[in-house]
Amino acid sequence: MLETDGVRKAFPGVTALDGVSFSLGTGEVHALVGENGAGKSTLIKVLTGVYRADAGQVRYRGEPVSFASPLDAQRAGIATIYQEVNLVPQMSVARNLFLGREPRGRFGLIDFAAMRERAGEVLRGYGIGSDVRRPLGSLGLGAQQMVALARAIEAHAQVVVMDEPTSSLQPREVDRLFRAIGDLRGQGRSVVYVSHRLEELYRICDRVTVLRDGRLVHTGPLAGLDRLRLISLMLGRDLDAVRSEGLTRFAERARSHAAPLLRATNLSRRHVLDEVSLAVRPGEIVGLGGLLGSGRSETAKAIAGALPLDSGGVSVAGEAVPPGSVGSAIRAGINLLPEDRKAEGIVATLSVRENIALAALPRLSRAGIVSEGDVDRVVDRFMRRLRIKAAGPGQPVGELSGGNQQKVLLARWLAMNPRVLLLDEPTRGIDVGAKAEVQVLIDELAEEGLAVLLISSDLEELVEGSQRVVVLRDGAVVGELSGADVTEEKIMAAIAGTTDD
Ligand code: ADP
Ligand code: MG
Repeated sequence: MLETDGVRKAFPGVTALDGVSFSLGTGEVHALVGENGAGKSTLIKVLTGVYRADAGQVRYRGEPVSFASPLDAQRAGIATIYQEVNLVPQMSVARNLFLGREPRGRFGLIDFAAMRERAGEVLRGYGIGSDVRRPLGSLGLGAQQMVALARAIEAHAQVVVMDEPTSSLQPREVDRLFRAIGDLRGQGRSVVYVSHRLEELYRICDRVTVLRDGRLVHTGPLAGLDRLRLISLMLGRDLDAVRSEGLTRFAERARSHAAPLLRATNLSRRHVLDEVSLAVRPGEIVGLGGLLGSGRSETAKAIAGALPLDSGGVSVAGEAVPPGSVGSAIRAGINLLPEDRKAEGIVATLSVRENIALAALPRLSRAGIVSEGDVDRVVDRFMRRLRIKAAGPGQPVGELSGGNQQKVLLARWLAMNPRVLLLDEPTRGIDVGAKAEVQVLIDELAEEGLAVLLISSDLEELVEGSQRVVVLRDGAVVGELSGADVTEEKIMAAIAGTTDD
């Protein structure tokens, strides 16, 4: 379908592609992998007319081609879906879907009614039920990407190139995307799929090509290719070294490429917060360090819409969250586990069941009616998942141990399918066993792609539990530590203000 032969592309001081011969079959989903800087995006750009190769050839359906621009490639049937959606956010969803191919009526004018009707029909097929007259930019990033994909499919693209398409998608959206990819393959169309998420590659790709330092180091079927071997090919390290370094490190590396899911920008409130900015990627646990009164809980509350701000704002997956409203934050997928769970969370006299279902009720209700069976199922699932120790769902929460109360509160938020979890002292005052369980659970949730902001006065917990730590003092960010710098000493130094920076 599409191939390159000895393609070379250099930028000043770096050879991004060094004689790459890549071949995409018909009706094939082909994974393109490699470490950051390996040349994946450059190869895609050469294939899709963004760059012209310095040497070598690109062939499309057997014929040498040299696309002048991405539009040129698109007209020939090669569509690209980037991580950032490259459509027009101010224009309506319908318009974006048909951009350049609008249905025309008499006198060659755009038939808007027909366009909207057709758009609604097409998008429902992709699980998007929003009003197609809304500006594209008002949709979530995931939905926007689905629109971009629907557009490529509707435009009869023969080749769809996807560069990290799932980094801002929810699990449900990922499923839909994968179904669409399966349909494309079924129709004999081809997909180039760039991703750092190995599970995804194994789920949907037929073959894989590995790039390393601009060279193609491996192409072959994914089935039967051991994960660790794939990683060792990407890293250029021998299998044993990768084995000992483990998958965790790799997963961490993969996470560091994703776009932030939560972004707080210049949160300010007189005498409380001073331009606090931070970002958390999906799958990342970011610690918030600082002394009591440094603004950690206030930052969490501000993000959760529970603290009015003078200025600054919060966005989830690139979409601004309406300020100062807990409801809006919850709808955006932000959930706060408050510090004082007695005062702000748990209702001791209500049962475990009621406490869990409390916030999720609106979501569980159909046309305002909540089925008891649905509630039971949700409660049962989370009691198991969180290993909540109680006599049964009917036991009053006040009778449970502190650790189990904490888990009930966590279950309540998880029942709402959050994307961002703000945990304020999640293990304070609970016994050692429960504490370890909650910590493991937080790790698992991050693994599943949630963005977690962790506040803890326990330095050890902060160091063990977070990939990055943002340090606050007097309501302002005074330091940020990552990687090997996340140590108790460095956090204390930042808190004390004895670091040079
Ligand atoms: P990947 O997508 O695998 O992370 P890229 O194709 O983006 O890798 O980059 C390959 C190499 O080319 C990197 O060293 C990168 O810094 C360099 N590079 C990519 N695009 C440019 C550019 N426009 N100008 C200069 N260097 C670039
Ligand atoms: Mg790239």
